Amino acid sequence: MIRPSLGAVELGAAVVGGGPAGLTAAIALAGAGVPTALVAGRPRPADNRTTALLAGSVTALETLAIWQRCRAQAAPLRVMRIIDDTGRLLRAPELRFEAAEIGLEAFGYNIENRHLVAAMAERAREIAALTVIAQDAVDIAINANAVAITLADDSTLVARLAVGADGGNSRCRKAAGIETEGWTYPQTALTFTLRHSRPHHDISTEFHRANGPFTLVPLPGQRSSLVFVTDPDDAARVEALPAGELAAEIERRAHSILGKIELEPERGVFPLKVERARAFGARRVALVGEAAHVIPPIGAQGLNLGLRDAATIAELVAAAHHEGRDPGTDELIARYEDMRRADVTSRTLAVDLLNRSLLSDVLPLQGVRGLGLTLLQHIGPLRRAAMREGVAPSSAQPRLMRGQAL
Ligand SMILES: Cc1cc2nc3c(=O)[nH]c(=O)nc-3n(C[C@H](O)[C@H](O)[C@H](O)COP(=O)(O)OP(=O)(O)OC[C@H]3O[C@@H](n4cnc5c(N)ncnc54)[C@H](O)[C@@H]3O)c2cc1C
Repeated sequence: MIRPSLGAVELGAAVVGGGPAGLTAAIALAGAGVPTALVAGRPRPADNRTTALLAGSVTALETLAIWQRCRAQAAPLRVMRIIDDTGRLLRAPELRFEAAEIGLEAFGYNIENRHLVAAMAERAREIAALTVIAQDAVDIAINANAVAITLADDSTLVARLAVGADGGNSRCRKAAGIETEGWTYPQTALTFTLRHSRPHHDISTEFHRANGPFTLVPLPGQRSSLVFVTDPDDAARVEALPAGELAAEIERRAHSILGKIELEPERGVFPLKVERARAFGARRVALVGEAAHVIPPIGAQGLNLGLRDAATIAELVAAAHHEGRDPGTDELIARYEDMRRADVTSRTLAVDLLNRSLLSDVLPLQGVRGLGLTLLQHIGPLRRAAMREGVAPSSAQPRLMRGQAL
């Protein structure tokens, strides 16, 4: 625990928020020798989300000695299928992406967030340069030289840079005066964990329905996670169904490809939106993960982006620290913004376009979507290029995603 120390700058960085993005940033920073505090927040109940970690994210977690601790709880994603279940006039053919086609064993691995976060928290406790504090930040004050973070017990810690990893309602973002922009969708994502009688064969299946995708993603054994996107009225109706009827409805919408379904008790409800910080940092604050960008859970991009944010800020700050430079300068934050903006913008637009093409009743737009998916299905080089870009963006591969320590 760090005691009051206003005035003396002891820390290179203070990371606020102990979700997966904040834990990764803190482990990467402290692992590179930067004296770091993680203000992880008071314990909150875990939700039942899972994350499909794409290959670059897995490499980064391996490099940070996190993956070794949770790999057994993750299922490989060797094949991804998209099935047009819209029942519309212009329908796309079934599209099948196989990791082996681009020389990979798997596109990535799906893991329950609670296992991922537990592995990260265990790794964080081992690093000498990292102090983990299970309290909320209640105030953040910024001056020319440092950021002072007041904790719930009234103590204060001071750092050159605050990394805001405190989620969609980020206090760090507000303290830095950064506004957000975005939009909402007439859709809600329901999350469930399923047990099923037939094996998934490491195949993730996305049924594209007219009011949103219905995506089954493998977990180890005969279990899968389900992200069920639909309109809010349907979501409320589905959510209120008794367990037996709900399982039957899910089995029907899954066309019984996983056989008989049983539901585990936890559920999640997430209204769909895009929310982006107008800047990824300002005034000695850099934002990572959902503090910087929230996107719909379509195409498994959200936390993969968040991990690239964490790896990038850690890379920049570690380099400044090793060269004896101040890691909280406007110049460093501007460089961070340059390195992250295109990746986040392009993924947000791709997810938005895919989602809108599903929602649209406009025949030409449905035709374009169908044509795009048909081309991907039939033109091998195009399909392979799309797969490579989906797994590892050409524009943004920080060192950790390439397996290089900081
Ligand atoms: C249904 C669904 C499915 C998804 N599937 C995928 C997927 O397959 N692949 C993928 O890449 N992404 C996926 N995502 C996105 C992913 O879940 C999020 O991007 C990720 O969880 C965000 O992590 P984070 O660390 O940025 O934020 P959070 O997990 O929100 O963590 C923020 C943390 O900050 C803490 N905090 C808040 N305020 C304070 C404070 N004042 N002081 C201290 N701590 C504070 C909170 O307690 C919390 O622990 C999905 C999202 C949804 C909704």
